[in-house]
Amino acid sequence: MSTDTPRILLLEDDPAIAATAAFALQREGLQVEHCMLVHEADASARRAPPAAAVLDVGLPDGNGLDLCRHWRADADTRLSALPVMMLTARSEEIDLVLGLEMGADDYLTKPFSPRELVARVRALLRRAARAPAAASPAASLIRIDADGQRAYFADQPLGLTRLELGLLCELASVPGRIRSREALLAAVWGPLAEPLDRTVDTHIKTLRAKLREHGPELDLIVTHRGLGYSLELPPG
Ligand code: CA
Repeated sequence: MSTDTPRILLLEDDPAIAATAAFALQREGLQVEHCMLVHEADASARRAPPAAAVLDVGLPDGNGLDLCRHWRADADTRLSALPVMMLTARSEEIDLVLGLEMGADDYLTKPFSPRELVARVRALLRRAARAPAAASPAASLIRIDADGQRAYFADQPLGLTRLELGLLCELASVPGRIRSREALLAAVWGPLAEPLDRTVDTHIKTLRAKLREHGPELDLIVTHRGLGYSLELPPG
């Protein structure tokens, strides 16, 4: 297999699930490295960062959520921006929310269809390929001043309130990543804010309206039901 085939790190201790997932990904031309233990997956990713990681939550030697958080906190390696998808059990809805809090980009609930897994992993890889353009201020549709005081849409000032600007900064920090209401509330309003969902929703609504004034054909802020919001930038 060619070395520029994207390599997916799959951390899953259930052999049947791992085999199904690996087969589906390989059939789509992706390379799969399968680990059954958290410490193996961590060592492998540090040795050679994969294109994306698919992590189970409960593993014999630890927890996929902790591994994801660990990678995100690692400012010195490419792992802090590694696309991560969590595999969660149906009953683990709390894990799903936690997964997004800990920086996972997406999740899939077991049992999942192999086709869905492949589609989601492909979407993660596409987003990751786009990320450098979004991170480069000049190339981005949305530009935020270095001091975070002003935002522009295609070089036109957006005229945002402080809270709208805070939300946009948070969402724009990693385009495509879902941020929960709780995470947005903590980041923009502060850790002592009252956890009222409506507060975030209300300001997202006004922010969205301002963005639509400039780009009526674009749906930049996407609502993920029960999960939160993400900023989706058009390619290029
Ligand atoms: Ca497991």
